Amino acid sequence: MNIAVLGAGVSGLTIAKLLQEKGHKITVYEKEETAGGLARTRFTNGYLYDPYGGHIFNSKHKEVVDWVFSILPKEKWQYTERNAKIYFNGNYVSYPFELSLCELDTDSAVDCVHDFILSQNGDEPDNFRDWLTWNFGEAIANYYMIPYNEKIWAYPLEDMETKWMQGKMPLPTKKEMIKSMLLKNPKERKMPHSTFYYPIDGGIQTMVDAIADGLDIRYSFSIQRIEKNADNKWIINGREDYDMIISTIPLPELPYVMKLPGKIVSHINDLKFNSLTTILFSCPKTDITWLYIPSHKYRSHRVGYQSTLTPHYSPDNNSGLGALEIIGDSFDIDDGFADRTDILPRELAFNKVLDHEFTKYAYVIHDRNYRKNTEAIKEYFSTDKSFRLLGRWGTWNYNNMDMCMLDAMKLAEEF
Ligand SMILES: Cc1cc2nc3c(=O)[nH]c(=O)nc-3n(C[C@H](O)[C@H](O)[C@H](O)COP(=O)(O)OP(=O)(O)OC[C@H]3O[C@@H](n4cnc5c(N)ncnc54)[C@H](O)[C@@H]3O)c2cc1C
Repeated sequence: MNIAVLGAGVSGLTIAKLLQEKGHKITVYEKEETAGGLARTRFTNGYLYDPYGGHIFNSKHKEVVDWVFSILPKEKWQYTERNAKIYFNGNYVSYPFELSLCELDTDSAVDCVHDFILSQNGDEPDNFRDWLTWNFGEAIANYYMIPYNEKIWAYPLEDMETKWMQGKMPLPTKKEMIKSMLLKNPKERKMPHSTFYYPIDGGIQTMVDAIADGLDIRYSFSIQRIEKNADNKWIINGREDYDMIISTIPLPELPYVMKLPGKIVSHINDLKFNSLTTILFSCPKTDITWLYIPSHKYRSHRVGYQSTLTPHYSPDNNSGLGALEIIGDSFDIDDGFADRTDILPRELAFNKVLDHEFTKYAYVIHDRNYRKNTEAIKEYFSTDKSFRLLGRWGTWNYNNMDMCMLDAMKLAEEF
């Protein structure tokens, strides 16, 4: 078949690679000058920067891990144990918070344990804010869960559903929590990303480029118009014809480029997402991989330390290198930015801004209409098997790279 893939992010590249291997003729259309989508790396004056957040790889799906290592051999990756911390009342508490209560001051720890033991009574709430209190108890919810989630979603938590959390958040049992207190041994539960891989050289772009290798990718090509001709073939921007289109571009872009029923356009326009700025900065060396910052005193909710991902992250590899994240609309980053006290705690010794980037589409928000909207959209597109949706923004899913790859593998099986 002659197939057009829209978007050269991880999803588009994976499906393109798999279908090309099956003998199909694949053309990938990408509006940017390079491949990778959210999973990109660039070097700014020799400093490694994943502009849309440090992208580490791991998966509980063996077929995905095996496939990735068949593309970029395992010896080209650094294997790291996550050392994530939460900045709480001026201290660094291990992640996850609820299994690290022994690291809190005594009063806060007693509040948290007391409320957690009494939690999970009554009906399980269906909105995220109440659910956090119901599941973890008031103290853990108020000290950490609610403020952190308010910052990362920038959306009313009471208007979010709860089903998306399975597998995304550590959800320890009360017994696990009590054990961690008694043993005074905060141990990270086995979560998909508690250990991870990152390419030794070249950042996550090295993986992306390895997948892209050998594919026909038309860069700097923005999809403007998608239509069918008299032979029922797909035409893109008035050129060429395809038996099938696989779209990984964000759903809100489709109504601008193809004819869709008004009802489907309404569902698409009702999808919620948030946007993100990341700012690369130099700092003292640290062995922390990620730092979560729940306090509303600071605008940044998280710092990812790129210097812990690979030994080759800067011209001299001596100092630390972090990328802080801020949710919301884009904003100016002027010369005085590193001196601002409302971004990060001063003691994190934020030295110098090296680079920054904004992305419109960062996180899918699971609001109350999420299921209604995505199901209606999915059902509409399922009526024509020659137009398929795939990817984080193509299917509107909180998918990490491995799940994007898994979905591409499942789709490829149909061919
Ligand atoms: C802050 C952050 C941190 C993350 N960290 C991790 C992590 O550590 N590990 C992990 O596994 N996952 C991580 N993820 C998730 C990961 O980024 C995604 O799962 C994955 O990159 C999505 O790939 P995709 O191809 O589906 O979408 P995208 O990467 O968004 O790709 C879509 C592509 O379509 C192109 N496009 C858009 N519109 C058009 C158009 N009109 N015409 C042509 N092309 C177009 C875009 O330029 C882009 O290249 C993170 C995400 C965020 C936001």
